[in-house]
Amino acid sequence: MRSSDFPILKQQVHGKRLVYFDNAATSQKPQCVIDAISEAYSTWNANIHRGTHHLSQVATAKHEEARSILAQMIGAQSSKEILFTRGTTEGLNMLAFCFGEAFIHEGDEIIVSAMEHHSNIVPWQMLCERKKAVLRVIPLREDLSLDIEAYKGLLNERTKLVSVAHVSNVLGIINPIEEIIRLAHEKNIPVCIDGAQSAPHLKVDVQALDCDFFVCSAHKMYAPTGIGLLYGKQQWLEQLPPYQGGGEMIDHVRWSGTTYNVLPYRFEAGTPDYVGSYAWGVAAQYMQDCGIDAIATHEQELAAYTEQQLGQIEGIHIYAAGQKKAGAISFNAYDASGKLVHPFDLGALLDQQGVAVRIGHHCAEPLMDELKVPGTVRVSFGMYNDKEEIDLFISALRRAIQMLS
Ligand code: PLP
Repeated sequence: MRSSDFPILKQQVHGKRLVYFDNAATSQKPQCVIDAISEAYSTWNANIHRGTHHLSQVATAKHEEARSILAQMIGAQSSKEILFTRGTTEGLNMLAFCFGEAFIHEGDEIIVSAMEHHSNIVPWQMLCERKKAVLRVIPLREDLSLDIEAYKGLLNERTKLVSVAHVSNVLGIINPIEEIIRLAHEKNIPVCIDGAQSAPHLKVDVQALDCDFFVCSAHKMYAPTGIGLLYGKQQWLEQLPPYQGGGEMIDHVRWSGTTYNVLPYRFEAGTPDYVGSYAWGVAAQYMQDCGIDAIATHEQELAAYTEQQLGQIEGIHIYAAGQKKAGAISFNAYDASGKLVHPFDLGALLDQQGVAVRIGHHCAEPLMDELKVPGTVRVSFGMYNDKEEIDLFISALRRAIQMLS
């Protein structure tokens, strides 16, 4: 796919062709997105919503158009259901706070899974501490997939919310969220989907999924950092109290009290990142032009090829090998005596050869505890990666293992 559209990829690192396999952490940006940011500041920058002057009206129109593009991209019924946030983390914290204020009481239960990113654990732990509620965890099966039978056993009349990742940022596994949502809905329990690792790789349709909330980050979707979204079904959002107070989220402010704005502005206090939203809209259109299904197929082929190539190296253990994955693969290397080759050393030697991978716990320490390792090596793909880069990575990995053995 169109790697030539991404200027950063043309450079060399340590005198070697850059192979960027850290897309789960953040993606690179195509020229059209970089140009959009420059265009915004060069031609129409002005604060939005309250301005009567021309530039403010242009900026407002661009921001709201981006909201509509993103609503359409994820299949929301209305752009009122798209709340701009700073990213997935803020979306989850916002939901934990607002939903928690409205619906969580002592003894209530919230369910997450054993493979969550810290962003989908800690806000719920904080809420549980605040409200004396209980966090339940869906365990993993031997093959590291979610144990759906155990999940069924966790759902009960005290369960108030389920929040799970669509795609694991460590294992790359695509979770059976349709089933997870259906089972929760049978008991009238709402479900939040952490889409940080799915929205960049898969077609998402929140109405078809019937999830109640969905969060994602622009920077993993070929768009700028500092912006994300929280989707919520309108009937849920209408019931939630505001998150932060300030400008934009109010209707009227009097010393006698404040009334709040309508959706989505009630949840968007302060000046929003309207340049970021505009550039995200441009990135979303770029992804749609490339074809999201085509991106998904391409990346799944890369993942399958990588697993096949890794499988030929002695001492490599691939986590959740052979399962359908989107975007990411984690592995570790063991030497002839069965000792773990430290992922940090592998990461450093790969970097020396121009290959950017991520090593460590990937903000999923509970999952690392389960895998009984301090960390893994993770390779994660974007639309611009290709098989030639995988071959470069595999040769670099063989060399690194040889040097460390
Ligand atoms: N959830 C998952 C599954 C992630 O992979 C990430 C980031 O890697 C996050 C949440 C947090 O995203 P952000 O740092 O953009 O807020």
